[in-house]
Amino acid sequence: MRLIFLGPPGAGKGTQAQVLARSHGVPHISTGDILRAAVSAQTELGQKAKGYMDRGELVPDDLILDLVGSRLEEDDAGSGWILDGFPRNVSQAKFLDILLEQMNQMYECVVNLDVPDEVIVSRLQERGRADDNAEVVRKRLSVYREQTAPLIDFYRERQMLVSIDGNQPIEQVTTKLTEIVAA
Ligand code: AMP
Repeated sequence: MRLIFLGPPGAGKGTQAQVLARSHGVPHISTGDILRAAVSAQTELGQKAKGYMDRGELVPDDLILDLVGSRLEEDDAGSGWILDGFPRNVSQAKFLDILLEQMNQMYECVVNLDVPDEVIVSRLQERGRADDNAEVVRKRLSVYREQTAPLIDFYRERQMLVSIDGNQPIEQVTTKLTEIVAA
């Protein structure tokens, strides 16, 4: 299984990716989780990334691309993976295509979790992560619209996109996803 999860912050990508990764025995690779771990461990990457994350901006590509490249080369990723939070802009998506071609791998599809803005804002306010305060949420949504949402067309043109209504109970989204992945 090789899947990419797309969707605005708070769409439920992490939750769904985790469930699916566990049931299929592949790693759930979340660049946000990797970066948060680096921030807590105060590594060089963490120190460089923290300011961008606190402001709700994307961390520069040069900090992310190597990280993803080496993560995909780890042993546990040999039989598949679910990417959550990467790619986040068109240049990351192009990088991923080249990387996977070199690795002789390909994703099966890109799952877009569709959730209306007002639902996102209220979900994020409930979640209460450090970067979930009102001002940073607004920033992350605008970064999503400007930089990440263009990936919907990018993958649609490649006929790789599957959109799912993410505004329904978690279990129903999981059921839908499982059907799509099995098809
Ligand atoms: P997430 O947990 O995916 O919402 O990511 C939290 C934060 O980490 C984002 O707001 C960005 O600052 C940063 N981040 C995560 N993934 C990426 C990525 N692929 N490219 C750039 N920044 C990222």
